[in-house]
Amino acid sequence: MSADTHGFRKPIIELRDIEKIYRVGTELVRALRGVTLTIRENEYVAIMGPSGSGKSTLMNILGCLDIPTSGTYFLNGKDVAKLSQSKLARVRGRQIGFVFQTFELLPRTTALKNVQMPLMYTQSPNRKARAVAALTRVGLLDRAHHRPNQLSGGQKQRVAIARALAQEPDIILADEPTGNLDSATGEEIMNIFDSLHNEGQTIIVVTHEEVIAARCHRVIRLKDGLLATDTRNKELPISDFQLPTGSVTETATPVFA
Ligand code: ADP
Ligand code: MG
Repeated sequence: MSADTHGFRKPIIELRDIEKIYRVGTELVRALRGVTLTIRENEYVAIMGPSGSGKSTLMNILGCLDIPTSGTYFLNGKDVAKLSQSKLARVRGRQIGFVFQTFELLPRTTALKNVQMPLMYTQSPNRKARAVAALTRVGLLDRAHHRPNQLSGGQKQRVAIARALAQEPDIILADEPTGNLDSATGEEIMNIFDSLHNEGQTIIVVTHEEVIAARCHRVIRLKDGLLATDTRNKELPISDFQLPTGSVTETATPVFA
């Protein structure tokens, strides 16, 4: 396959000259200073960089939690750079699944209800069935009625991944998803991301850990609000629509076979 397998895939994220300037008192902080970036369907991207380099600012913009000061952001071909807060929330609810370092589960609420929560927000149909399917996918259906304090760290993160999946998001954005886990549990969580990627999911992970970045196909490093490097560890597998009819494709593997 040529070096440009990615070129055939549909762009999901297209950033052009994104700047984000925060005003702190009379001072201006230029957190992003002109980031141009395309991320295509099914890419598995690590975002790295020193503290203060703009990772969280970039994730907030990618996830439609915030808008840039200038520049354009097309998400699935739609310009989202200047949307109002309420429109941004709608886009976010339908298209972005978030996974956080600190899980962000509602403490007095069961795993099943936690997974259903964003679906209630977007008034999605079949909420319970979708939540059950998502918990099954991460191998946690037997803990559906447990509350977060009755779950281990790894189990909590699996509930959080199920919550992201239940929305059937176009992108999963994970900010240091293994940051609060021991390395064996972190490995389990990354195995889930690997499987989801193999099933076609687009995933962006902020991480400090080189071992995690090495599992991703593409590694983007930020420095001082600019894209410093953008490298590919490997090519993506050829997507189905490029294969001639009748060719054998791999079937998706379940997360916990
Ligand atoms: P990283 O996630 O890579 O550590 P951030 O995106 O959090 O970096 O921050 C980038 C820069 O923007 C830093 O200088 C930080 O102090 C500043 N910054 C981030 N958020 C805000 C904010 N809400 N208000 C003012 N400055 C901010
Ligand atoms: Mg940060």
